[in-house]
Amino acid sequence: MPERSKTVHDVIVVGARCAGATVAMLLARRGYRVLCVDQALFPKDAVSTHMLRQSGLARLRDWGLLDRLKATGCTPIHSITMSYADAHFSGFSDPIDGIAQTYAPRRIVLDGLLQDAAREAGVDLREGVTVTELVRDGEVVTGIVGRDRDGEPVTEYARLVIGADGYASTVAQLTGAEKYDVIPGETFTAYSYWSGLNMQSQLRIGDKQAVGGWPTNDGKTLIWCVQYLDRFAPFRTDVERNFSLAFKETAPDLAELLDTGERVERFFIARYPENFYRTSHGPGWALVGDAGYHKDPFTGLGISDAFTYADLLAERVHEGLSAARPLDEALADYQAQRDRSSKPMYRFTCESSRLVLPDKHVEVMRALPRSPKHTQQWFRMMAGGLSGREFFAEDNLAALLNPQGAR
Ligand SMILES: Cc1cc2nc3c(=O)[nH]c(=O)nc-3n(C[C@H](O)[C@H](O)[C@H](O)COP(=O)(O)OP(=O)(O)OC[C@H]3O[C@@H](n4cnc5c(N)ncnc54)[C@H](O)[C@@H]3O)c2cc1C
Repeated sequence: MPERSKTVHDVIVVGARCAGATVAMLLARRGYRVLCVDQALFPKDAVSTHMLRQSGLARLRDWGLLDRLKATGCTPIHSITMSYADAHFSGFSDPIDGIAQTYAPRRIVLDGLLQDAAREAGVDLREGVTVTELVRDGEVVTGIVGRDRDGEPVTEYARLVIGADGYASTVAQLTGAEKYDVIPGETFTAYSYWSGLNMQSQLRIGDKQAVGGWPTNDGKTLIWCVQYLDRFAPFRTDVERNFSLAFKETAPDLAELLDTGERVERFFIARYPENFYRTSHGPGWALVGDAGYHKDPFTGLGISDAFTYADLLAERVHEGLSAARPLDEALADYQAQRDRSSKPMYRFTCESSRLVLPDKHVEVMRALPRSPKHTQQWFRMMAGGLSGREFFAEDNLAALLNPQGAR
């Protein structure tokens, strides 16, 4: 069969999940001709515990997609119970960007919703297309080469190629995009889905391990544990038993709760790759989502950040393609802005995902049950709506830690 076309698209996006489908949709809504390809045939699940942050939901609302998400029957989450050592408290962030609760939709649901919205916006979204090479004109990337689901060759051309193809990004490898601020991953996760539980969000940190869960679609509850990599091999020898043991050791009350429900899906097990940023632009190409900025899922920011920076990238690409400013300059600005605004939460994520919290944090966590205001602030900080510097400022904590002196 001949190659499908020699049409020049404005933009080709490689990857059609939360970063790719989103940036494709946003550019198509601005009137650009967008081709989006993914090697997967959808609907297809992704390995993810799929918690959305309020910042991510605010983006969905802005794009007119929040009501669609709610209509999928995904259970709202408005309370988080957290424990560490002898500290135990519950609460939730006050509204961030006007969003008062959150959701953890299954990826089949969320990615499908985004792909539908992209197609409605006019994106030519092709499944089963695997990108293996880039077309270049000198130094400038001008297209993609790959094969379709039947193994037939595909070559497509565009003014810009965006890699939204995940942390192991092929586009990043082909462009030689360098990693920086790399911090090794130290943990792995195992998770599955239970029915028959009535549970809001739980995050319990024990001795170099953590357990928890939250409700998702279809009345199911996602239940997970995280442990250090040195326990990876022994854990896999008996997943069911070791999963249950992690709950008994870390949160016996949750272990008992799990016994009242029933596990209804298989276990998913994943080692967390390293944390990193990648150079995310060059002549004719850009990266978005995990391809350009990847961190441990402990703070549940991957999807919401994919939305935030897909939004930013779409804006900068529009500036470049509409000749409001040079494309190279607009893309450089995208990367600089992304790095600047994400760096504090990147650091916080990498530190907290080690599951050993600093003494100051523990002192604060022990005191939180005394102060609904500070508890709300704590969860706002975890959701990325308040910086650690603001929360841990002496003035802010005085009333919590020295209630007598503060009066
Ligand atoms: C165990 C685990 C738990 C997580 N939990 C959470 C959580 O609770 N909350 C949260 O916000 N984030 C979580 N994350 C992170 C989140 O899943 C990612 O941040 C998010 O999926 C990134 O989206 P993306 O679109 O950039 O990449 P991906 O979701 O990885 O999508 C990339 C797409 O690119 C396609 N692709 C790859 N290579 C090619 C190619 N050569 N040609 C064509 N297509 C290609 C793939 O098929 C895929 O569909 C978790 C991650 C893991 C591993």
